Amino acid sequence: MPDRIARPPANKENRIRGVMDGTHAGIFTERSVMTSFAIGSTYHGFVLERKEFLPEIHSTVFLFTHAVLGCQALAIKNQDENKTFCVSFMTVPEDSTGVAHILEHSVLMGSEKYPVRDVFGEINKGGLMTFLNAMTGSDTTWYPFATRNLKEYFNIMDVYCDVVFNPLLLRSTFEQEGWHYHLENEEDQLQYMGVVFNEMKGAYSDPIRSLFHHIYRGLMPQSTYAHESGGDPRRIPDLSFEQFVEFHRGHYHPSNCTLFFYGDAPLDEELAYVQQNFLARYTAPAAKARIEPGLDLREPLCIEDTYPVQPGSPTAQKTFLAISSTVGTVHDRKLNAAFQIIANILFNSDGSPLKKAIINAYLCKDFGGLFLSNASFKTLMITYLVGTDPEKRDHFLALYKATLSRMVEERLDKDLVLSELNRYEFSVREEMNKAQRGLDLIGKALPAMKHGLTPFEALQIDALLAEIRKDATENGYFEQLIRTYLLDNPATVTVTLAPDAEKMAQNLQEEQQRLDAFGQSLDTDGRRRLVERTQELIALQSAANTVDDLRRLPRLTLADLDAHPPFHAVQPALLGHTELLINDLETNGICYLDLGFDCSALPLELLPYLDLFATILTEIGTEQKDYMQFAKAINLCTGDFSHSVQVYVRQGEPQTVRPILWVHAKVLSAYLEQAIDLISEVLASVDFSDEHHIEEIIHREFAWAEHAAQSDGYSLALTRAFSHLSRAGQYNEQIHGIQAYLHLKGLAGNYLEHEATLHAALRQIRDLLLRRQGLIVTITAEDREISRFQELGASLVNALPDLPVVPARPSFPTVPATQAFTTSAEVVYNVQACTLFPDASRYNGSFEVLRTWLSRDYLWNTVRQMGGAYGCFIQFNHLTGNFGMISYRDPQVRKTFEAYEALAKVIGSLSLSDESLQQLIVGAYGTATPHQGPATRGATARNDYLAGITPAFRQQRIEEIIRTSVDDLRGFAPLFAQLSAKPIRATIGGREKIDQDRTLFEHVTEL
Ligand SMILES: [Zn+2]
Repeated sequence: MPDRIARPPANKENRIRGVMDGTHAGIFTERSVMTSFAIGSTYHGFVLERKEFLPEIHSTVFLFTHAVLGCQALAIKNQDENKTFCVSFMTVPEDSTGVAHILEHSVLMGSEKYPVRDVFGEINKGGLMTFLNAMTGSDTTWYPFATRNLKEYFNIMDVYCDVVFNPLLLRSTFEQEGWHYHLENEEDQLQYMGVVFNEMKGAYSDPIRSLFHHIYRGLMPQSTYAHESGGDPRRIPDLSFEQFVEFHRGHYHPSNCTLFFYGDAPLDEELAYVQQNFLARYTAPAAKARIEPGLDLREPLCIEDTYPVQPGSPTAQKTFLAISSTVGTVHDRKLNAAFQIIANILFNSDGSPLKKAIINAYLCKDFGGLFLSNASFKTLMITYLVGTDPEKRDHFLALYKATLSRMVEERLDKDLVLSELNRYEFSVREEMNKAQRGLDLIGKALPAMKHGLTPFEALQIDALLAEIRKDATENGYFEQLIRTYLLDNPATVTVTLAPDAEKMAQNLQEEQQRLDAFGQSLDTDGRRRLVERTQELIALQSAANTVDDLRRLPRLTLADLDAHPPFHAVQPALLGHTELLINDLETNGICYLDLGFDCSALPLELLPYLDLFATILTEIGTEQKDYMQFAKAINLCTGDFSHSVQVYVRQGEPQTVRPILWVHAKVLSAYLEQAIDLISEVLASVDFSDEHHIEEIIHREFAWAEHAAQSDGYSLALTRAFSHLSRAGQYNEQIHGIQAYLHLKGLAGNYLEHEATLHAALRQIRDLLLRRQGLIVTITAEDREISRFQELGASLVNALPDLPVVPARPSFPTVPATQAFTTSAEVVYNVQACTLFPDASRYNGSFEVLRTWLSRDYLWNTVRQMGGAYGCFIQFNHLTGNFGMISYRDPQVRKTFEAYEALAKVIGSLSLSDESLQQLIVGAYGTATPHQGPATRGATARNDYLAGITPAFRQQRIEEIIRTSVDDLRGFAPLFAQLSAKPIRATIGGREKIDQDRTLFEHVTEL
């Protein structure tokens, strides 16, 4: 066992070691249940203030205050094996240099006890963690993780506490994670470089982020929330190393922290651990950070700004418009829950008369809203228009006010109110099914605690909801709130964010001017020193941690792995003559239903319409109900009614594909019958006659698709690259890829010309798809609901005509193997792919170990740490043998592709210590045995069944993972020669970057 206790109290060490032995976990759980914690008593330095069993969350909740330091610890204890720990600090920024965010990255780059560069990356290489992250919000930084393994729980707790309380904070870390002047050769152009700097450049490509920032600054002037806590790329270079270190000193004292423990670990041990190893050495409290409340906005404010779009691209209908008001504070719990529901009634339900009025007035492509109940001390309502024009603002504001006033005067539609009350209650009920429940509950308690409330109320909602339901249905409660807080509220800000084709060049020019000014201040000597420093940083980044340093990190070994983990599989059955896949799982009274329609009959020209068809199918209504009536009906009886498309390949038959359109419904058991009736009605009589609403849907879908392509283009690049490798990939390209995107762009851009074709396509797809033969149904629910569904579900099947599916076998067009697509983003997404296993039988579990090394070691070091990308990940499908690498928010093009293509060589000479190999094996094992909520477990089992993957296959893979050797890993090296043999590349992102490495691509297209 590694030495994990820095300063062990004499009589404590053995006990803690004992606890960490996973085999004793059960005994200790028992003992912790027997420990009777008494209010007012002190446990390892912590005084118990309050303790209560909360039936709603099936947990006993303990609130402690540290006797010396004054910090609080919240423990939410229950039988959940997915233990979750979190340490959080109030980090209150006073400018937009992103200091809190840079610090969050930097503490994870090594501490006194763990002087390991990139602690986070090292832990992440191997382990059974189900969650591991760190996040910076507008006033808080938190470090949470979760694991099912007790030994690992204390291991990572030790590392997380050491890095936050005792970080090294080297200057080189600040330069790498924050920012530095980068000059590799004297004749090069000077650049800014840094992980957070690049991350925020990527984040700033998203106009919605800018919209939010203006709202915060407008509504809460001179407050903590007026600053950009993540860091404005223009301000990040203002931050000095000294200010950065000082921010840690002022904010990371334990008096300014809150600790969270969730799950089935023994509470007594948890408290003892943090006290003895970390808190005991502090003898006096320090000041807590204070959130600056700022000023109240006394009269409405209008803000106008612009965001960059591609030079020369049209700017009509590309403006974002938002109106936002402050409502109350985090303290007003009933008001806040009520406004969550009101936001859905007014802005998000298709049954909303306000939404209808705005859309019908041709003011925008989409309209929606949200209520922020705990992102800042004040709570905010935000309504936004997507795809509008600046000059439409006043018309919008007048119509918004007039329609809201009328709705309040005439009282809200009862069905609409009921349907949204139901949907909200559903979402509360479903929280129990989340895989990361601990994180979810911590996320509820933390905002309450940081603003001085007890967490107990924040963790309960049932009684409050009953009160709200009564007041809303009987006493006009929602109408009063709308009048007070939305109509008569002077604290309102309107933001207009218009597209600007020059802005990108301007931003770059401004940045260049700052760089030039610095460059000119350097003499020859200064320039040479900068090159040296840059080279030093590069060397530091590429230097591996020493084996001795790595040994200090506590880790699991192969002995900690269960060689026979449980795998869940579906039970195939029949619903009439239709295939029914059953997942009998604990779901807290919710039924998850999936209806799968075989899309093999669709010819090539209909595939780009498939996703639109499904979107329209799930919201357009029926011959009996228009779309507004349908929205109310579906929200009354389901928690969600949605769709997805998946293309299945069966094991051993990589070129045989089965594209399936899934229609998903989540239903509380009390509404099962009603939901089945309504879905049957959709299948039998979906109605496409509302041409006007279909046109609105197309414009809305394109506005969001365009936004996604700009701010998060990697999935389009990935789909394009994989389309070269298999029939499944070709299907995906037509259904969700660039092909589908360009098709939608053409449709939205010249709607009238294409309208008739669209309508014909919708009807053709309906006739080819909605058939009884080829239908497959899945249910994930508890026993009783499954039996009920087996009786009731026949009506779903009978709603469909009994016709066969005749495969169309489309022949797909070919496209250039190396392509780039330009957008307005400043960063790029680089994808390279190949068929690694032309013979799928050469695949085995050892490849999963290699894959873990690839993504968490090789790509993490080269593309993220050295290249400056925000992330880099792998897509691999063992059924087709197809493999791809994706860089995320990447400032490089050529360098990243060079890193990809070096793989055959790097893997061929791979050498790993025993510890490193074991760590990778543990990591691969963790990935192969994921922690999932019931809905995801059901979906995974369904997908396995359709792909022909059996529990025996999964078990065999586990065994192969566990017995992997370094030779096994090196044996895969020759396969990677495929990557450069005939390269397949797809890049999406900023034109500037792509143009610099233009020769890598046969084709460059503007998206
Ligand atoms: Zn970050």
